[in-house]
Amino acid sequence: MEGSNVRDILGWRVRRGLEIWQPEIAALPASVVCGFSGRQGGVSKGAYTSLNLGLHVGDQEEHVVENRRRFCEALDIDLEGWVAAEQVHGNDVAVVGRKDRGRGAFSRVTALPAVDGLVTKEAGVWLTCYYADCVPLIFWDTRGRAVGIAHAGWRGTLAQVGMRVVEAMVETFCLGPKDIHVLVGPAIGSCCYSVGEELAVLFEEKFGEKPLIRKEGRIHLDLKAANRESLVRGGIPPGQVYLSKLCTSCLPGVFFSHRRDKSPTGRMAAVIGLREH
Ligand SMILES: [Zn+2]
Repeated sequence: MEGSNVRDILGWRVRRGLEIWQPEIAALPASVVCGFSGRQGGVSKGAYTSLNLGLHVGDQEEHVVENRRRFCEALDIDLEGWVAAEQVHGNDVAVVGRKDRGRGAFSRVTALPAVDGLVTKEAGVWLTCYYADCVPLIFWDTRGRAVGIAHAGWRGTLAQVGMRVVEAMVETFCLGPKDIHVLVGPAIGSCCYSVGEELAVLFEEKFGEKPLIRKEGRIHLDLKAANRESLVRGGIPPGQVYLSKLCTSCLPGVFFSHRRDKSPTGRMAAVIGLREH
């Protein structure tokens, strides 16, 4: 079990037979439920072996739904309250609530269309995003009264979808950026992500040199660092941005990786919500 040896701000746990990753952060309020899935312990076959949580990648629907049920059980939440969007690598954000429970849980057609960020202050609404190298971001406020989630691939990172989520939380829930904490989850690391000059220039223009590592004639992009830079520039205190070191491409037994596995492959999910009392 590769995951059991990894030291990170996300701790590897086995819950009800499933391997999951959860933050080991003292600042996480007791009202917040969150977790990141791995790839073990599901029923999907072939390229989707075995805990594929994405309905949009060609896997059998009943397998995906069963996998989602297992992940929900491990987190002690109900799939009926899962809320997901049809992700489009953009930066639009939707405010959701209990009326949206179940959207995208059992079928793609009910997902929120064309958004990559979700926020809520209502309990029992499990915000979800899917990824397999892209960066999942989860957000909560210090008092544990509001949460958010974002899906940020390179396009979403450039479009600063994370800051759009912060802005939505600030405007909708009367918070300041200083009240918000952000965890940048497992994603492709700079170790495995070399990019062309054209993309590097776009990142440099927006975020400076920090997310770029130039060595041996190649340019490596650190998407997690770019997201961190965007959030800190936007007013999130640096001590409230938590970066997971987990690289989806480096751990083939633990995570799916779109870049490593090529298409088709499965998707992990990130989930965050407020516990029902
Ligand atoms: Zn790597």
